Amino acid sequence: MFGPSKGGIRYHPDLTIEEVISLAKLMTWKCALMNLPFGGAKGGVVCYPKELSDNELRRITRRFTTEMHDIFGPNTDIPAPDLYTNEQTMAWIFDTYDVLHPGYNNRHVVTGKPIEMGGSYGRHEATGLGCMFATERFLSRGLIPEQQEISGARVVLQGFGDVGSVASDAFHRKGACIIAVSDSKGGIYRQEGLAPEEVQAFKREHGTVVGMNDTMSITNAELLELECDILIPAALGNQIHRGNANNIKAKLVVEGANNPTTPAADEILTDRGIYVLPDILANAGGVTVSYYEWVQNQANEQWTLEVVQDKLQSRMYKAVDTVFNRWQSFMVGDEEFGKKEGKVSEQVPDFRSISLIIAIERVARATLMRGIWP
Ligand code: NAD
Repeated sequence: MFGPSKGGIRYHPDLTIEEVISLAKLMTWKCALMNLPFGGAKGGVVCYPKELSDNELRRITRRFTTEMHDIFGPNTDIPAPDLYTNEQTMAWIFDTYDVLHPGYNNRHVVTGKPIEMGGSYGRHEATGLGCMFATERFLSRGLIPEQQEISGARVVLQGFGDVGSVASDAFHRKGACIIAVSDSKGGIYRQEGLAPEEVQAFKREHGTVVGMNDTMSITNAELLELECDILIPAALGNQIHRGNANNIKAKLVVEGANNPTTPAADEILTDRGIYVLPDILANAGGVTVSYYEWVQNQANEQWTLEVVQDKLQSRMYKAVDTVFNRWQSFMVGDEEFGKKEGKVSEQVPDFRSISLIIAIERVARATLMRGIWP
């Protein structure tokens, strides 16, 4: 509706077409909420990336791009990294597309590229850092009186990939105590807090966070139920569900991953007074800096890291403010809907509903203004 479609490419053995459709829809709302000139998209390949060599991954990516090259395009459909895809995957997609469409500036056909190939400074860190900015702004609004800033918060992170490991670093720098992290092999816990750099070094060497010195091994299920202030699911979908939502002890859930909370769990968390910063807001830093990369590529420019991160911070703050203010309007009952009904809304919606209302309204307004033709 607002421009070319935009979304991540995921390589995972359990990927289904239904999941891709659901994730593409999420991207539509995310781009609308962030006021980015994109529609939503998603894509993926069902494969076991961990068991594949670089050579095999390259051939799969080139084959996939060849099949998709009429759909991909800088002004039609622009992929980015997602679960088990990265800068290298984007470089292969770009190269294959560029060979099939010679003679044009094709760099903005993918985002999340290596810096040397027109990637943006700050894209790799964008989603994790954006999670931190969103949390920081949200806490500053004072809804959790005993936790009005990140400093001092006890944080638990599920997933230690692009999103999780950067988020651990960003929260740690702001003074949070990261008490547990995990990856697909399991989790680690240290009551006094983990140093993200140390965990990153251990993961680089051993391929997992599990087994690090002076840590207690825990399962991913146990990790989610730990006593903490902020829980950040940053791995797969459907991790917080009907079966464990009653055991979540965090005061705030920040959705680094897409769809980590099922609708049933969402209701349980809301009823229990646990706030959720929804995926379309909390992890929107990634697509925001992807947009900056797309803009830079068209202008043949490369902005500095400071410029990118300043822009990211103000856009994340603004989006949180927009959602929070709208939420507050329901609280005080001056919401148009409430006025028409002549009463204050009986039930104050959660932040996901508010974010979706704003995004869907923007798409609906644009759809009506454009009209249906022919
Ligand atoms: P990644 O492949 O870099 O990392 C995924 C992490 O999840 C790894 O540490 C992996 O070990 C862990 N993991 C896999 N299966 C697990 C399991 N069963 N239990 C616990 N941990 C498990 O992926 P990423 O780019 O960090 O993406 C993570 C999530 O964030 C996805 O839901 C993705 O859609 C979402 N997301 C990513 C971006 C981005 O810019 N990369 C942007 C927005 C949203």
